[in-house]
Amino acid sequence: MLNDAESGLDDLYREVILDHYKSPRNRGEAPGATLACEGVNPVCGDEIHLSGRTADGKLAELRFFGRGCAISQASASMMTETLAGRTLDEVRRIGESFKRAMKNEPGATMPEENGDLEALEGVKKYPVRIKCALLAWETLAQGLG
Ligand code: ZN
Repeated sequence: MLNDAESGLDDLYREVILDHYKSPRNRGEAPGATLACEGVNPVCGDEIHLSGRTADGKLAELRFFGRGCAISQASASMMTETLAGRTLDEVRRIGESFKRAMKNEPGATMPEENGDLEALEGVKKYPVRIKCALLAWETLAQGLG
């Protein structure tokens, strides 16, 4: 969990994370799912179950449920919000850029498609929590193959 000794900017970020954690977007299972996968982060005890429907080269629907820390669940919520309805090419591109940004690769920036993702920037200061933020995204990448 993010600690209390952070700046005001981090407090703002934390509010966005807690909002997604307490009110997850696209929670549940997608009806008629064509995609179902799950991932765990044993270091933190996080679990994410994803289900979705692909049609005409698009990720028509994407839902999740799970349990674990606020970062893992909030990141999953933001991911579904960011990716649902996009083409599979966009899904892969945005997923890759998120991963590169979280791993602090040179020149990598957070995807601009969802401003809430910026809130996860603060997590980069806690290397052990990066896996929490990446869990849903890596689970989806594996599920899409
Ligand atoms: Zn976690």
